Amino acid sequence: MEKIYDVIILGAGPAGLSAGLYAGRSRLSTLIIEKGVDGGQIAITNEIENYPGQVLEGETGPSLIARMTEQAKKFGAERISDTINSVELDGEIKKVVCSNGTYQGKTVIIATGAKHRNIGCENEEKFIGKGISFCATCDASFFEDFEVYVVGGGDAAVEEAMYLTKFARKVTVIHRRNELRAAKSIQEKAFKNPKMAFMWDSVVVKVDGDELLNKMYVKNVKTGEITTVEADPDDGLFGLFGFIGLLPNTELFEGKIDLDKGYVKTDDNLHTNVPGVFAAGDLRIKVLRQVVTAAADGAIAATEAEHYLAHKK
Ligand code: NAP
Repeated sequence: MEKIYDVIILGAGPAGLSAGLYAGRSRLSTLIIEKGVDGGQIAITNEIENYPGQVLEGETGPSLIARMTEQAKKFGAERISDTINSVELDGEIKKVVCSNGTYQGKTVIIATGAKHRNIGCENEEKFIGKGISFCATCDASFFEDFEVYVVGGGDAAVEEAMYLTKFARKVTVIHRRNELRAAKSIQEKAFKNPKMAFMWDSVVVKVDGDELLNKMYVKNVKTGEITTVEADPDDGLFGLFGFIGLLPNTELFEGKIDLDKGYVKTDDNLHTNVPGVFAAGDLRIKVLRQVVTAAADGAIAATEAEHYLAHKK
């Protein structure tokens, strides 16, 4: 007979791994399903300095996540690599249909996280991977000594822009307002960095180039003026990184659980509207999306799953 897990966790970012640790430690049979590498957005984050207790010099997203994965495993959580194609969440036994098999569980914790939002300019798709990127960790080294532009004004944009200054000769942040949204401590470091520049009240409206990105049109939203940015002829290319917020990975759950603008609605104890189904991490409606809040969500969701199962007995 096919195994029925106590808990199936969808996603192995900080929320999913923390849920795995708590569920495993409660002696629940636990399966974590992840299609890519563990860590979600943290897998492509260079510097983690605000996770409590994290004082290791040079801690990166991947190094922190590797320890979280190890810890979940240590407490017995199984982890498989598979792509989730559909879910059946109603009823006592939930089904998660993946490319390599169907998994059954008495409870499900949804922790599939969020992904980057596209810049939204003309020709964007044409230049993704040819100058446009959404991952500084992955692509910064391609821009060694080139000019780089970063769109956005939040924590991600400013932190990743500073990381990019280690490679690029100059990094210009293009922000649609005249002040940053990023935490003040992050802003202070950015304003002190001699390689950083800022284009305020500005949005990228169009990108262009032959094979590679070497031209873009930036509009001042106050005056309507369009500035043409061109690559230095010796370079023939510049980099454009987008960090303008997130979109929740919840397409699979549309019509199955309550969502609001794509984000999962939960109560304070992370129950969705479907009995036995919980949500944790960045895909939830919440005010603060950080590793610490994702990890806390995972702990709460797993503990609530345990309570739910105990009451069923
Ligand atoms: P965010 O905080 O939502 O900021 C998005 C930024 O992009 C904002 O400055 C916003 O401008 C701008 N923006 C949004 N849509 C735009 C558009 N269509 N065109 C141009 N600009 C646009 O997103 P994030 O920086 O990716 O961070 C996501 C979450 O992760 C946040 O909760 C953040 O705190 C967290 N995070 C934390 C850290 C850290 O603490 N070290 C690091 C990375 C991320 P406006 O300001 O005008 O709205």
